[in-house]
Amino acid sequence: MGKVLIIGAGGVGTVVVKKCAQLPEVFTDIMLASRTLSKVERIAQDTEKRFGVKIKTAQVDADNVQALVQLFNSFQPDLVINVALPYQDLPIMDACLEYGVHYLDTANYEPKEEAKFEYSWQWAYQDRFKQKGLMALLGCGFDPGATQAFTAHAAKHHFDEIHYLDIVDCNAGDHGKAFATNFNPEINIREITQKGKYWEGGQWIEIEPMSIHKPIDYPGIGPKESYLLFHEELESLVKHFPTIKRARFWMTFGQAYITHLQVLQNVGMTRIDPVRFQGQDIIPLEFLKAVLPAPDELGENYTGETSIGCQIKGIKDGKDKTYFVWNNCSHEAAYKETGAQGVSYTTGVPAMIGAALMLKGIWMKPGVYNVEQLDPDPFMDMMNKHGLPWHEKTGVDLPHEYPN
Ligand code: NDP
Repeated sequence: MGKVLIIGAGGVGTVVVKKCAQLPEVFTDIMLASRTLSKVERIAQDTEKRFGVKIKTAQVDADNVQALVQLFNSFQPDLVINVALPYQDLPIMDACLEYGVHYLDTANYEPKEEAKFEYSWQWAYQDRFKQKGLMALLGCGFDPGATQAFTAHAAKHHFDEIHYLDIVDCNAGDHGKAFATNFNPEINIREITQKGKYWEGGQWIEIEPMSIHKPIDYPGIGPKESYLLFHEELESLVKHFPTIKRARFWMTFGQAYITHLQVLQNVGMTRIDPVRFQGQDIIPLEFLKAVLPAPDELGENYTGETSIGCQIKGIKDGKDKTYFVWNNCSHEAAYKETGAQGVSYTTGVPAMIGAALMLKGIWMKPGVYNVEQLDPDPFMDMMNKHGLPWHEKTGVDLPHEYPN
């Protein structure tokens, strides 16, 4: 049905390649390209060993638009999946426009020199993609991604109006390392050392980093201390569901993780401005990333589960209603299937699903879209079939109380 070029040979890239390889009727030809060829080749070999599917490989610097266009010209993809880093979103989108190919990513653009997460840069591509008859699907991982499909599913099947939305993200896994992040350490640390932010009463309320927290009871896991963070899908969800009065995002962190992070911050290791060291400029956070375990190294012996869902309160037929939809994912099962841990798995599977729906024409339309703008039904159906089964319950017994 289509040729797909996957850019980024990290934890998420590992899963996307292996999930695409399991759907040869949709992904007829797969190429993986990334900065370090040895990582690309390792994933290609493992994919052939596990699923008998040959993957084409290439080295590319995705910051370089002309190098990307050259690669597109040689492989001639129908769709480009960007699972490199958020810094590469705009160069890859530029290259897609120049060559003429559809685009999908899992994280919104972020400038390297400033930790700022917002969709404005990518939404500004709307007219250019539309005019060329191309589609760009933004943020099609789990959160962002599946959480927006969950919200769209709730809006379509369970509510007349959504008023309160809490996205709850728990990783109750244990990788046995003293300190490691589950996705790219640089991006992860930039995200959580920022001020927190949530939407209430038509405006963003900013809070000091990690200053609001409480235990949330996660299905099959139990109560875990959860911290209010800003997360990018809040921005698009409050835009596309204007009845939302309050939208928040919560993520669990263990005490040891927070203590490590505080120490690293206190000693200046999370800084993103250059520091002169032995005659050269280094960015402390980039150096820290180099010494921390990479997300694709965490899979072996990783036990426990992730649990991510949306808790929603709103109105149906003139009455108050509460609703909870979630997925739990086992790190061990993810590793057994793909050789990657659960956080990479929960991101890579939705990326493969979004790509399949685009190539099949079910989600294909010119322009730049967030996941909640598309029909959630085929996406949720594929989640059940491809390793991320979801569960739902209605009623007042939500594990997390609503003050309003
Ligand atoms: P990793 O660090 O494991 O992988 C990133 C990969 O991108 C690495 O292989 C890296 O190459 C490659 N890369 C970086 N810069 C370039 C470049 N200039 N040119 C080509 N390749 C490059 O990260 P993850 O796999 O954990 O994350 C991938 C993406 O997924 C990130 O954008 C992350 O924010 C997003 N994500 C989204 C989630 C969601 O739920 N929506 C959840 C988790 C992650 P090298 O190996 O040489 O460093």
